[in-house]
Amino acid sequence: MKKLALHIQILLGMVAGLLFGFIALQLGWESFVTNWIKPLGTIFVNLLKLIAVPLIVASLIKGISDLKDISKFKNIGVRTILIYIGTTIVAITLGLLLVNILQPGDGISSETVDKLTNTYAKSSGVTSKVAEASKQTQSGPLKFLVDMVPDNALKAMSDNTAMLQVIFFTIFFGISMLLIGEKSAKPLKKFFDSLNDVVLKMVDLIMLISPYAVFALLANVVVTSGDPDILLALLKYVGTVVLGLLLMVAFYCLLVSIFTKKNPIWFLKQLSPAQLLAFSTSSSAATLPVTIERVEEHIGVDKEVSSFVLPVGATINMDGTSLYQAVAAVFAMQVLWPEGLSFSNQISIVLTALLASIGSAAVPGAGMVMLVIVLESIGFPKELYPVALALIFAVDRPLDMLRTTINVTGDATVSMLVAKSVGKLKDNPQSKEWDDHYKKVK
Ligand code: ASP
Repeated sequence: MKKLALHIQILLGMVAGLLFGFIALQLGWESFVTNWIKPLGTIFVNLLKLIAVPLIVASLIKGISDLKDISKFKNIGVRTILIYIGTTIVAITLGLLLVNILQPGDGISSETVDKLTNTYAKSSGVTSKVAEASKQTQSGPLKFLVDMVPDNALKAMSDNTAMLQVIFFTIFFGISMLLIGEKSAKPLKKFFDSLNDVVLKMVDLIMLISPYAVFALLANVVVTSGDPDILLALLKYVGTVVLGLLLMVAFYCLLVSIFTKKNPIWFLKQLSPAQLLAFSTSSSAATLPVTIERVEEHIGVDKEVSSFVLPVGATINMDGTSLYQAVAAVFAMQVLWPEGLSFSNQISIVLTALLASIGSAAVPGAGMVMLVIVLESIGFPKELYPVALALIFAVDRPLDMLRTTINVTGDATVSMLVAKSVGKLKDNPQSKEWDDHYKKVK
């Protein structure tokens, strides 16, 4: 029998997980799901995180040392950052346009606000996010630069949230490797080339359990989700975010077809396993190894580009998150603080959401923390922060799943654009299977 394509297997796992979750909810099996099903999902996410740092280090070093010339790296770096800023500004502007046209805040009654406030304003989910945001805003303006430079490389590599520090160290290391000349760098280069192949093989192996893992992840999302009535009350807000995210996909397809001349449907199909995992895990950081594998082996972006563009993108380029922040901030103002809805405040949102998306960690729920920072920048009344977050908290998880998918799609699109612009997009990418050499070692 012909094996089903990976993205179909994952999709089937997701649908089965959703159905199983709903059945479990009806039968009162929530604790069964938490105790016996969820752990598989957690193990899978841990496995992906486990290889993220070795993969970034190996592939970035391989990428830089393959360049042979530092000016090429500068070229790729500058293009990447500029295109990332450009797509993020498009996302925020789109979010602002939609929320102003569709006015999702209009339909929200004061009973709904009260109900949400009573349920969520004092919940640990909301209070911890407000506290985390205030910790971040108390630091100075250059804190992000200071944070990027680790004082201990091994410590940075042992901390999954210190991705930018790892990238900084690795680039520094890779450039120094170029500078010592090809002959002296050869042993190291061979080592990292081989390490890179090994870690990519680990991605293939981990993906073998992905259909079962997404089953577990989604079943757990269903049994831990909140009241469906609230979802209905917030339908217009959810619809605005979803419409914006869909338009972003159309925007990426347009960019791919105009600038790389590739078929956008082919692009989405090749990327789909990474997108489905982003949706299931709500974490671009956990999805990163799969994104790298798909973009290099299936889409044909050269490692010299992808090894820099993708890890940097996972941390600083979050188009879905920034669109969401723009919609959520204005939605909260429409409901709770209509007098704040001025043009200048909306411009402030563009700037702060841009910086916030750069500063957001690539983990579930990070976008909500940054939303507080966006609200603060426009002088939103402090005492209303918990109410504003309570308003959107109930539907944050499904929106997080969707915006993470867009974040990953945005990174992959930009990697294609940069690759094409420097002549590093292959026409016939060769993908490797997990069992390419299996017969020999069996
Ligand atoms: N979960 C998102 C990501 O990992 C960040 C967020 O919007 O909360 O990309």
